[in-house]
This record gives sequence, C-alpha cells and structure tokens, in this order.
Amino acid sequence: MNDDSLILGCLECGTKNRIPLSRMDESPKCGKCGALLSTDIISQPVDVVDNTFDKVVLGSVLPVLVDCWAPWCGPCKAVGPVLDELAVKYKGRLIIAKVNVDENPRIGSKYSISSIPTMLLVKKGKVIDQVVGALPKADLETQIARIL
Ligand SMILES: [Zn+2]
Repeated sequence: MNDDSLILGCLECGTKNRIPLSRMDESPKCGKCGALLSTDIISQPVDVVDNTFDKVVLGSVLPVLVDCWAPWCGPCKAVGPVLDELAVKYKGRLIIAKVNVDENPRIGSKYSISSIPTMLLVKKGKVIDQVVGALPKADLETQIARIL
C-alpha cells in the first residue's frame, strides 16, 4: 500500500475513499456518490513525507502535531499507540502527522531535529515549538492544548 494517501470516509454514504495527499487541495469527492469529502474528520495519524509536508502540515487549517520518528527508535514505538488514541480523541480539531526522519531528511534538517521522537507543534502554518522525547499521554495533551 502507498503511504502517500489518506482514507476518508464519506459523510453521505459511508464509502471509504483513498485519496492521494497530492490531490488533497483539489476538493476530493466520494467515488460512489460524488459528495465532497471533508478532510476535517481524519481520525488516524497521517504519514507525511518531504514532498507533502508543506501542503499537509503547513497548509492545514487545523493545528497539527508532527511526530518525527524512525523505525529503529524504541521510544518512538512506545508513543505510537498514544498518538493513535489522540488522533481519535481530537478528530476534527487536530491532525496528527508522522514523519519518518530517516526517509525524509529535508524535514529533519529544516527543523534541526537531532533527537527523536521530536514533536513539532504547528498552528496556522507555523511551527511554534518543538518537544523532544516520548511524553506520557497527559503531557502530550498539555502540549496539544497550546495549539488548539
Ligand atoms: Zn459517498
């Protein structure tokens, strides 16, 4: 499966549509009934890469928490399920994005990420802060509250 796309459920007919991130700004429509798909109902972390970061993260109307991680990082694995939970809890209010910094060096160097996991706090297209380390869920929510 290509990670470079999102599953969006249609609010009209319930069909799950796979939409490439590169087409996210073209008002995607449901393949079955033609209804416009809302990108505000994303309830799972979104995989973002160098080429889609600006559009998906900096172009988001919602605040974004970006988890910069790598497959070999133990603490990153530990925080993964917490982020899954938070993506559901904050559905419609926050997007949680994940960047594999091994495969996407541009983002790592742009934000001088030297230790992972690092969380970028993004509001209105700007990275307002970075938080280093695998925080417990309550502390992550404290950080999230700063950008909501
Ligand atoms: Zn539909």
